[in-house]
Amino acid sequence: MSDLQGNLKKAEAYLARFKRDGVLNQIGGEAVPALDGATFETLSPVDLKPLASVARGGAADIDRAAKAAKAAFPAWAAMPGEARKKLLHKIADAIEARAEEIAFVECMDTGQALKFMAKAALRGAENFRFFADRAPEARDGETLRTTGQVNMTTRVPIGPVGIITPWNTPFMLSTWKIAPALAAGCTVVHKPAEFSPLTARLLVEIAEEAGLPKGVWNLVNGLGEDAGKALTEHPDIRAIGFVGENRTGSMIMKQGAGTLKRVHFELGGKNPVIVFADADLDSAANAVVAGIFAATGQSCVAGSRLLVERSVKDEFLARLKRKAEAIRIGDPQDPATEMGPLATLRQRDWIEKVVAESVAGGGTLVTGGTRPAGSGFYYAPTIIDAGASDLPCVREELFGPVLSVLAFDTEAQALALANDTPFGLASGVFTSNLARAHRMARDIRAGVVWVNTYRVVSPLVPFGGYGLS
Ligand code: NAD
Repeated sequence: MSDLQGNLKKAEAYLARFKRDGVLNQIGGEAVPALDGATFETLSPVDLKPLASVARGGAADIDRAAKAAKAAFPAWAAMPGEARKKLLHKIADAIEARAEEIAFVECMDTGQALKFMAKAALRGAENFRFFADRAPEARDGETLRTTGQVNMTTRVPIGPVGIITPWNTPFMLSTWKIAPALAAGCTVVHKPAEFSPLTARLLVEIAEEAGLPKGVWNLVNGLGEDAGKALTEHPDIRAIGFVGENRTGSMIMKQGAGTLKRVHFELGGKNPVIVFADADLDSAANAVVAGIFAATGQSCVAGSRLLVERSVKDEFLARLKRKAEAIRIGDPQDPATEMGPLATLRQRDWIEKVVAESVAGGGTLVTGGTRPAGSGFYYAPTIIDAGASDLPCVREELFGPVLSVLAFDTEAQALALANDTPFGLASGVFTSNLARAHRMARDIRAGVVWVNTYRVVSPLVPFGGYGLS
């Protein structure tokens, strides 16, 4: 049996329970369908066949879940931090023990390459461990002296929080938001993305099997415009942690205004990667290719705008083209696959439209711009020599495997192009000039500036951004 066949068999075995039982909500420790019995189907982006039927929660289900989270809050908030720490480490142990299952299920649901998903499962466990270790100090405040007085601040968990996550890397991102909320003593209602809901179900089960008290973590599946909206409007939910598009973030702010919700957002990006002529060009080319094409470009930190010094542009593009064309596209369950399909038809339609408009507007295709064979939502690694910075491929967050290239002549020009975006999430600088690296790191308006590397993310390092990010 080939590696692919073996993996497909394993994936089928892991998926059988979802095919049989569907994906239920989890409220107050019970697996339940939507109150009105509604469901929707989640499709495989590889062969477009239904993977499972999913409970389609609405406002009534959110209300039940919010009440369960509110009821569980006092005891969870009062639990000593050391006890919460132990429990969160137990959840991390259980994630590690089921990492293979998580990777296979996530891979089927999102279409992203298995080797990438295997790392994402383990990173989920790391997130739990990192925040577990902070639980004992979560309530600590400060002592502030003023003349004749000692003042003390304390920190309190805000209450039940709503967590709303996107469809790309859903398992890892859910752990990154839920683990800190639990560590702080908050209870949770999680609304995962409708396009990839399977591993959120595994995650809440893992947490309860590890001993998390009932109602501390509730899961309601459903669409953004009904379950998501209801969660942001619910008066018992005191804050929203959201990862997704900036337009959705803006809607959430409006929806939450009536109940004065606090919000914590991680939004999109149109991230510049700047390559100076004095950089190690081969290592930079590897980083640029991985930076944009990993996860089929469906990553908030995808380095989607390459700014390259004009004197090395032709040579650098030739390297990129060779590397992009060597990427192995295929079934994400195949251990040799480096790039799977896009997650949804909507994504591919949008990417094709923007690439066509950009080429019509004067951009030149260096490679790609086509659909490889296969029934899934495949799209070839694409590089566009954009020429002008007002093309849609340079301005829009595509969330796909499309790299737009602009040339610069001076450091000042490179900086101006890097900052010429309403986003400001991540960026990369490739240079052998240390002073220049420091200047760029100071002046690029992005939450992260990587120097001579890309996409190295640690839970220890703050992850945020400017503007629409
Ligand atoms: P999205 O904004 O369309 O959806 C995200 C979530 O919001 C989903 O669960 C969806 O159901 C929900 N939602 C939609 N409308 C809602 C509403 N009115 N009220 C409440 N919830 C609603 O994003 P997406 O397409 O799933 O994900 C891709 C986006 O996420 C990209 O912009 C990407 O850059 C961003 N992202 C950011 C980060 C980061 O850490 N900065 C990480 C991953 C993805």
